[in-house]
Amino acid sequence: MARILKCNWCKVSDTTKDEMEFETQYKQKKYYHKDCFKKHLEDREFKDKERNELDQLVDVIKEIYDVKIIPTVAFPLLQKIRNGEEIYGKRIKKTKEGYDFSLISEAYSHCSETIRYWNRKKEFSGFMQAFRYGLVIMSDKLPIIEKQRREQEMREEISKRRVYTKDQHHEDREYTFVGAKKSDEMDISDFL
Ligand SMILES: [Zn+2]
Repeated sequence: MARILKCNWCKVSDTTKDEMEFETQYKQKKYYHKDCFKKHLEDREFKDKERNELDQLVDVIKEIYDVKIIPTVAFPLLQKIRNGEEIYGKRIKKTKEGYDFSLISEAYSHCSETIRYWNRKKEFSGFMQAFRYGLVIMSDKLPIIEKQRREQEMREEISKRRVYTKDQHHEDREYTFVGAKKSDEMDISDFL
């Protein structure tokens, strides 16, 4: 008799072994409903991306503050920005989701000199005090950086479309150009 197995994603046991997906990289095979398996893979991809972006953000912060390790108490603050929650009772974004880690990295890079300036100027009692101060400076930049990123994406989208139409026009122009035999008469000043 076929065995009924528990899905590792939704934890429901209602499907036979041979109708489930499984992963083999673990000591014990992990089984999933076919739909749950897709969700599981998406979830893993998302988490990998988050982890990579957080690693990069940590590198940016380490460089700005010239430290080798960031204390674990700093991470919940970064996570709050990621989740769109308040930091220090100040709501930084109204929508459910916050800013992704790569955007926070960009915002940090954008004001790294300002943060370094205040690190020199103010007498902070330790890393966390300096970090909290810099976090406020950085979080003010987030809406600007996000807007810039969106505009950049739009520009790239538009230029992609433009290159395509240009290619089509180019063929027409070349045809007329050769036909008119204008190349010998051209002066360098035509290009200026
Ligand atoms: Zn399932």
